[in-house]
Amino acid sequence: MPVDPVCGIELDEELALLHDHDGKKFYFCCNGCRRIFIKKPRKYKNN
Ligand SMILES: [Zn+2]
Repeated sequence: MPVDPVCGIELDEELALLHDHDGKKFYFCCNGCRRIFIKKPRKYKNN
């Protein structure tokens, strides 16, 4: 199950927001979390 790297919530892959970063797929619970990640991807992408 994908995990939102910003808030740590486990997500349903079909409902989550998808974002591609450096060829990797990241999933988010909401646009707010996605925007936070896009601003500071280095803070979150190693999770
Ligand atoms: Zn979230």
